[in-house]
Amino acid sequence: MRKAGLITGGALKAAGAAIHDGMTTYDLDRVIHDYIVSHGAKPSFLGYGGFPASACISVNDTVIHGIPSKTEHIKNGDIVSVDVGAYIDGYHGDSARTFAVGEVSPEAESLMKSTEESLMEAIAMVRPGIRIGDLSAAIQKYNEERGYSVVRQYVGHGVGRNLHEDPEVPNFGRAGHGPRLVAGMVIAIEPMINAGTEKVKVLPDGWTVKTLDGRLSAHFEHTVAVTPTGVQILTLAD
Ligand code: MG
Ligand code: MG
Repeated sequence: MRKAGLITGGALKAAGAAIHDGMTTYDLDRVIHDYIVSHGAKPSFLGYGGFPASACISVNDTVIHGIPSKTEHIKNGDIVSVDVGAYIDGYHGDSARTFAVGEVSPEAESLMKSTEESLMEAIAMVRPGIRIGDLSAAIQKYNEERGYSVVRQYVGHGVGRNLHEDPEVPNFGRAGHGPRLVAGMVIAIEPMINAGTEKVKVLPDGWTVKTLDGRLSAHFEHTVAVTPTGVQILTLAD
């Protein structure tokens, strides 16, 4: 799964290097698509449930599942969440990152920082014996202490031969509850954190998920393996 994760992480890194003011989300999707295909993998999201692109690209108040578009231009000051999956040799990698384009507001910066830090804090807790609820509660606490809200409708998940497997990995919950992690499990931890209300809406396209109040949302995700002694992040680019 490290092979799939390496390509996934590399595609995200390529997206970060390419993203710029004036670019369309369609062109950013092409960068990701070309990276994945040129490394011998398949984009996990392309055609998944009918999804029409290789990456989900979600700008500002779009939480997740944004559809890349030739008419949507990325602008200076935007925050852009890019979610990528790559499939190779029978396994998937799944990772996401919110990029700041040019100068973003201090509020946007803080939201992104809290979201990423909560992911890294949860990853640092992963080892055999810990419960999913321990991770969920840690992510929730970290973000709520900073005044942010945790999206409820969408959660992390197991990942392996299928993109989405059991168990669910919510970003909210109670410590000491839920399934215990065992060595060999692989999960995608993915906090989706909003500046305002936790409530979201799905647009008529059936995919795009936006915050109900129009405020910003950030999303960071890694695929991680539970090892006998702790954790390995599989979707790092190097
Ligand atoms: Mg993802
Ligand atoms: Mg995922």
